[in-house]
Amino acid sequence: METRYDVLIVGSGVAGLYASLFFGGDTRVLMLAKRARTVSSSSLAQGGIAAVLDHEDDSFDMHIADTLIAGGYKNNVAAVEALVREGPEDVRKIMELGVEFDRNPDGSLNRTLEGGHSRRRIYHHRDQTGKEIVDKLLAEVSKRKNICLEDNAQIISVVPSGGGFRADLFVNGAVASVFAGFCLMATGGIGRVYMYTTNPPTATGDGIRFAYEIGAKIKNLHFIQFHPTAFDSPDNPERFLISEAVRGEGAYLLNGYKERFMHRYDDRLELAPRDVVSRSILLESRRTGSNRFYLDITRRGRDYLFNRFPAISAACLERGVDIAADLIPVYPCQHYLMGGVDVDLNGRTTVPRLYAAGECAHTAWPATPCSRRWCSAGARRSTSPAVSGPATRGSRRFPFPSTHRVRPCPRA
Ligand SMILES: Cc1cc2nc3c(=O)[nH]c(=O)nc-3n(C[C@H](O)[C@H](O)[C@H](O)COP(=O)(O)OP(=O)(O)OC[C@H]3O[C@@H](n4cnc5c(N)ncnc54)[C@H](O)[C@@H]3O)c2cc1C
Repeated sequence: METRYDVLIVGSGVAGLYASLFFGGDTRVLMLAKRARTVSSSSLAQGGIAAVLDHEDDSFDMHIADTLIAGGYKNNVAAVEALVREGPEDVRKIMELGVEFDRNPDGSLNRTLEGGHSRRRIYHHRDQTGKEIVDKLLAEVSKRKNICLEDNAQIISVVPSGGGFRADLFVNGAVASVFAGFCLMATGGIGRVYMYTTNPPTATGDGIRFAYEIGAKIKNLHFIQFHPTAFDSPDNPERFLISEAVRGEGAYLLNGYKERFMHRYDDRLELAPRDVVSRSILLESRRTGSNRFYLDITRRGRDYLFNRFPAISAACLERGVDIAADLIPVYPCQHYLMGGVDVDLNGRTTVPRLYAAGECAHTAWPATPCSRRWCSAGARRSTSPAVSGPATRGSRRFPFPSTHRVRPCPRA
């Protein structure tokens, strides 16, 4: 790893990876991952990615309306418009990069349904869509000579320096400093500040802190989404997600008496938006005095379930639950941050040359499978001003400070 780059991308989830691909070969990009490059929320995503590719029974206007309704009309409407209308472009782009979505027997793309969506518009790779996308983006990144991706490189501070930024990091047991003309925060969510979350250990909100410390505006950090159906294991604080697509494919949500109950709270039943379903679970818990809840997907049959949800069925089996025969114990937990670093539609923060994309950037829409799209749309857009800016056309144009050091990590 060298010490001077044109662009520093903090994070190797979908936001960081996708952004890195939009820089030309003469822009030197350093991308950092706090742990291994595949440890991210992006890699864990199961359900799929929402976009309107087929206008026969769907439309941009319907997708926009669904997103506004699910967001309680607190959304940034211009951002929702961009997210929805540019959806097909990003989905096609990642398919060009090799991402494979499940297909119907006639070869058309299979679409699933999730909460808050009035149409089937979620493209998926079985129940491991995130891993498929990350793997293909990583493969593309590895071909680009201008991108240096470092694992186990944890940024500990970012400060303005010489017109760009200096970042201090722990890498391979040592402390190092790097300099870059532009910085893109793509550090993901904050789930690990909660006791129960679906998020990986990397989700500690670092990018939001770094941005805040250098004066960036932060917005709506209280916009937290609680996913209604994480696997409920009293003995294990780690929460494995049971994708909303399981309800999309027909699972019933049952209370402690093994009765369906969503009709008491919302006409959309199990496919109401996530905040509604999570709140209904808490209200039902209060009504019945039981905090046991279950998903029942047994009626779909073993062959279908183990083929459509291989990762979820395997993870449940490890925990002693056969999803083709048993009820799956579930309970809400923290899942997604909708607030974050305040950005414009091009990912620009209120600090010059500092950008943010993906979950750490403020979206104000709920994590339906739109969150993945926010990573790609935000990442792509955030690169456009930087790509055309003079400072990214070769670091020599950029006045870096002459003092940079790589120091060994102090021993205890
Ligand atoms: C279990 C699960 C299932 C999901 N399913 C879906 C779905 O089906 N559809 C959908 O649209 N969305 C889904 N989401 C949400 C979506 O996956 C995330 O919002 C999105 O992937 C976040 O991407 P990101 O690139 O912003 O962050 P992440 O993918 O979390 O990546 C963050 C990166 O930042 C790095 N990082 C953090 N701090 C530092 C630091 N200090 N120094 C260096 N690097 C750092 C991490 O190492 C990591 O590489 C799901 C989320 C989870 C947790």
